[in-house]
Amino acid sequence: MSPSDRPAILGGSPICDVTAWPRWPQWDATERDGLIAALETGAWWASDGAAAQSFADDFARFQGAGYALPFTNGTHTMEAALAACDVGEGDEVIVPGLTFVATASAVLAANAVPVLVDIDPDALTIDIAAVDAAITARTRAVIAVHLAGNACDLDALVALCARRDLRLIEDCAHAHGTFWRGRGAGSYGDFGSFSMQQSKLLTAGEGGVLMANDPELMERAWSYWNCGRVRGRHWYDHPGYGSNLRMTEWQGAVLAAQLARFPAQNRRRNANARALDERLVQIPGLAPQRRDPRMDSQGHFCFVFHYDDREFAGLSLRGFEAALAAEGIPLGVSYPSLSTLGMFRDGVYGARLRTSAPDLTTVSLPRSEHAARSTVWMEHRVLLADGDAVGRVADAAERIRSHAAALVRA
Ligand SMILES: *Cc1c(COP(=O)(O)O)cnc(C)c1O
Repeated sequence: MSPSDRPAILGGSPICDVTAWPRWPQWDATERDGLIAALETGAWWASDGAAAQSFADDFARFQGAGYALPFTNGTHTMEAALAACDVGEGDEVIVPGLTFVATASAVLAANAVPVLVDIDPDALTIDIAAVDAAITARTRAVIAVHLAGNACDLDALVALCARRDLRLIEDCAHAHGTFWRGRGAGSYGDFGSFSMQQSKLLTAGEGGVLMANDPELMERAWSYWNCGRVRGRHWYDHPGYGSNLRMTEWQGAVLAAQLARFPAQNRRRNANARALDERLVQIPGLAPQRRDPRMDSQGHFCFVFHYDDREFAGLSLRGFEAALAAEGIPLGVSYPSLSTLGMFRDGVYGARLRTSAPDLTTVSLPRSEHAARSTVWMEHRVLLADGDAVGRVADAAERIRSHAAALVRA
């Protein structure tokens, strides 16, 4: 092998300068001015200020939902949604196996049973037939996750939930800017739940937004979000049960600035991701996440592609990732399948379900477990680079493939 062609992990020079990619998060004077303005109003919490609520309203308008509330984070949003849907002890909520733990832990926080179902192996989103098969007399809701921003089949989910009288909550923590048939993710279900944690596509370090179209449901979420208060009643009258899940004005100020920048970033990520798809499909052993043509735009929380080691001389996923990282590509890593987490495997979840705990310790989700072992997750900031840079991701993968046998021996 010529020195110029040698994979970086074997001593060649990297295809990309890892320090040259766009950074995340991004900010400029708009965030700084917004923070100082929030400081100088002296109204630092949501009950006095307007920044957090007006950000939530603007973001809901962008996604196409009627009502929104600004939250502490994208776990509490789901807890409030479940409370508003009256999900509680003994109820079942169907969730996909491949997701961040919060999708299931929010269900446990409601003392309800998360029923783990498998995913579509190509799209990596919840398998609708598996949802259908998992419905029992105790099922109250489905939480669908648009994994890596890839929209679930929202037409099928909305129809199934309507037919079986179930609530649909969209976990949109990866899907800011995902659009399905002209309307945003989070506007199809009873609730759309978004996270503004540091790694997400709109961020204030922490934060969340819950959106809905039904004002009565949203009013119930409002009460849960605001200590069980009911609008119009005395401030210290708490007719309901709730918690304090309110976003601060600091977060609202930063997020307003992030949102102004977002549409252009979303377009750029989509253009780069679709160009990268075209390169990756030409490399044997690599395949992008399958995308439904009804999805107009994917809010890429990350760029995920399938890796088949049989086309790479048996080079393990971890070996491929290490070689790609050495070429200067910023990577993340798949979540493990929920079925393999200690919380389920070791029965820890049972503490939340004292009277009704079913045995979830032996749940097996072959497709979620396989996906966790065979997908590559690239950070979304790569998709903010110029087109040439993104093409180098494919160049790096090609270089690794042509030296895969040497990498296996190394
Ligand atoms: C980040 C994330 C959440 C929770 O968000 P936090 O704001 O960190 O609580 C929920 N679901 C998914 C799929 C996520 O990636």
